[in-house]
Amino acid sequence: AHAYMLQIEKMASLGKLSATVAHELNNPLEGILTYAKLLKRKLQNEKINEDEKEEILNELSIIIDETARCGNIVKNLLLFSKQKVGEFKDEDICQVIKRSVNLISHHLQMNNIKLELDIPENPVFIFCDAQQIEQMLIAMEINSIEAMPDGGTLKIELKEIDSDKIQIKVIDTGVGIPEEILPHIFEPFFTTKKEGKGTGLGLAVVYGIVERHAGKISVESKVNHGTTFTVTLPKKPNINYDEKI
Ligand code: ADP
Repeated sequence: AHAYMLQIEKMASLGKLSATVAHELNNPLEGILTYAKLLKRKLQNEKINEDEKEEILNELSIIIDETARCGNIVKNLLLFSKQKVGEFKDEDICQVIKRSVNLISHHLQMNNIKLELDIPENPVFIFCDAQQIEQMLIAMEINSIEAMPDGGTLKIELKEIDSDKIQIKVIDTGVGIPEEILPHIFEPFFTTKKEGKGTGLGLAVVYGIVERHAGKISVESKVNHGTTFTVTLPKKPNINYDEKI
């Protein structure tokens, strides 16, 4: 397998675009959702033949699911557009990793996934926005879980490198990523997940967070063997506070 360093120019424009798109979409979506739900309830009480009723209910369920999916996109976009530099503090990255893992422990259990944590015993302080780093880890962890529908192992590794950097690896034994789609996975809205499960925004958000921490992200993957995401972050990033994304 090859390791890919991905540099995506498009990413900066997502921040600007997202604020607009999110607000444009949010209001009509709420109307559609409410209306669809009301209609579904009303139809359940009407006297129409059973076949018709089932068909209509199925169609309405699709409307509701699809609308909820759009809602998820909007929430992600809003989250993205709100993220700004400014909540940076010295944080123990070991604790941030542990918190992220606690939040997904239920998913691990449900999916028969073994967790391996390989992190130093001592605190490792880095100057970061802990909430964003936690969000970044959860997005990668959830992707790993979804890549292991028949169970497997999720390993999270933390290492200090070059005395001024840390490296986090999120390693799974999942389905892997075909080489031809690897260059696209960080693009906003790129998803291979079926039936409205994916929004394709997870890794775009991850990429933005890494970028804001002056870090790097790379991915190495082998189909049917698994995927490793490697995030390298400086302990003391030179953050430009004037830069608003
Ligand atoms: P989403 O999860 O909504 O599809 P992401 O941006 O998080 O959006 O991921 C984009 C795509 O990258 C996924 O649809 C999947 O094809 C691929 N991907 C990401 N992480 C993994 C992983 N750990 N294993 C396999 N494929 C992955």
